[in-house]
Amino acid sequence: MFIKSIHLENFRNYGRLDLDVGPSVNIFYGNNAQGKTNLVEGIYVASSVTSHRTSKDTDLIKFGENEYKVSLDLIDDDGSACSLSSCYYTEKSELSRNGRPGRTLIRDNAPADKISEYIGVCNIVIFAPEDLNIVKNAPSFRRKFLNTLISKISPSYFNLLSNYSRLLAQKNALLKSIRSSDSMPSLVDEQLNFWDYSLADLSAEIILKRYKFVKLISDIACRHHGSISGGKENLSIEYNTIFGVVGALETFLTKNSKYDEYMSKGLSESDYGRIKGILSDLVLAKLKSVRNYDIDKHISSTGIHRDDIVIKLDGLVMKSFSSQGQQRTAALALKLSELEIIKMFVSSTPILILDDVFSELDKTRRMSLVSAMKGAQIFITCTDKNMIGEEIDVMQGANKAAFYRVESGNIEAEA
Ligand code: ATP
Ligand code: MG
Repeated sequence: MFIKSIHLENFRNYGRLDLDVGPSVNIFYGNNAQGKTNLVEGIYVASSVTSHRTSKDTDLIKFGENEYKVSLDLIDDDGSACSLSSCYYTEKSELSRNGRPGRTLIRDNAPADKISEYIGVCNIVIFAPEDLNIVKNAPSFRRKFLNTLISKISPSYFNLLSNYSRLLAQKNALLKSIRSSDSMPSLVDEQLNFWDYSLADLSAEIILKRYKFVKLISDIACRHHGSISGGKENLSIEYNTIFGVVGALETFLTKNSKYDEYMSKGLSESDYGRIKGILSDLVLAKLKSVRNYDIDKHISSTGIHRDDIVIKLDGLVMKSFSSQGQQRTAALALKLSELEIIKMFVSSTPILILDDVFSELDKTRRMSLVSAMKGAQIFITCTDKNMIGEEIDVMQGANKAAFYRVESGNIEAEA
C-alpha cells in the first residue's frame, strides 16, 4: 500500500495542504520549526487516529481553530484505491451537535463506526526522536508501544483494551464515591465483585496477547540489536505483569508442551479456555486481595493497566544503567522489530516515516535502518537534504526519490 495524496486542514501550522506524493522515497527538508514533523504527524494521525507525540487532540488543532481534518488517498497492493479521513472537533466547533468534543472517522467515503475498523487499514511505522522514551521513560511509553503494535495487527485486541479502559473508569468512579462512612458495604462489595470479575476476564485475554508479542519483540529486537552492535551486547525484553501470572502461563505451556503452538497458530479453543480460566482466577484473587487498600486510597492500585516491559542489556535494566547511545540502539532495535512483526502478520507492506532520525544515528545504525526499508514508501524529514545521499540510494527502488521544501506550513515539490 502507498499514499497517493495527503490533505491537512487546520492541522498544527497547516491551514490547508493538498499534496501529491511519490510511491518511493519522499524527502521533506527545511529549516527548524517550518512544519516537517507536523506533516508526518498528520500522515500518522490520518492512519492511526492518535499522534506519536501527544495524547491531546486539541494540541493538533491549528491555534485559534476548533477542528482539524487529516485525510489520505491510498493505493492498495492490488492497485485498488481507498481513502481514510479523521476529523476531530472541540465543543466550540460547528460540527459539535451536542456541545461536546468528538471525532468522525471516514473510510472509503463511509463512516467507520469503530476505531478498530479504521486503524488496521493503512499500517505506518514511524521512527522519531520520541522512540527513546520507550527505553528510558515511564512504563506508559512501553505500554503504548506494545498496545499500538498489537492493535495494528489485531482489531480484537484494540476492542479488548477499549472495554478494559471503560470498565476500569467505571470501577474507579465507584471507588472514588465510596466513603468510609458508607452505610451499605455489602452492596459496594457486590458492585466491586461485578467489576473485578469482568476486569479479570478481559485481563486474561489481554495478558495472553501481550505475553506472546513481548516474546516476539524480544527475539527479533535482540537479533537486530546484535547486528547493529556487532554482537557485543545482549538485549532482552521481559513482560512484567501481575505477580505470578507469567509463571502460571509458562508452567501451563511447558507442562502441556503448547509453547510452539501458542506462538505460531494459536491454542485450540479448549486450551485457550483452560489457560484463560487459570489467568483470570489469578487476576481476580489479586484484585480482591488489594480491595480494602483500593477502597481506602480510591484507586485501582493493581491490574494490567500497570503492566510494563523490562528492557535489559546484558542483564541490567537499561532505563537505569545504559548510556544514551545504548538506549538509542535499543530503541532502534525495538522499532525494527515492530516493522518486522507487522510485515509478518499483515499482507501489505507498511509505510515508513523517519522523522529527523538520521542526524542522531551513526553510519552503522543508519545503514541498519535503511537496509530494513528497501522497497517501501518512505517519508523522511531532515534539515539538510545533502546529508542523506547514500541512504537514499539504498532505500529507493525503481522510482526515484522526490524532494519537497517545507517553509512556514507550505510545501513545494522540487521539479
Ligand atoms: P525541526 O527541524 O526543528 O524538527 P519542524 O519543521 O519539524 O522543525 P514542526 O515540529 O513541524 O517543525 O513545527 C513547526 C511549527 O509548528 C512550530 O513553530 C510550532 O510552534 C508550530 N505549531 C505546533 N503546534 C501548532 C498548532 N497547534 N497550531 C499552530 N502552530 C503549531
Ligand atoms: Mg521536526
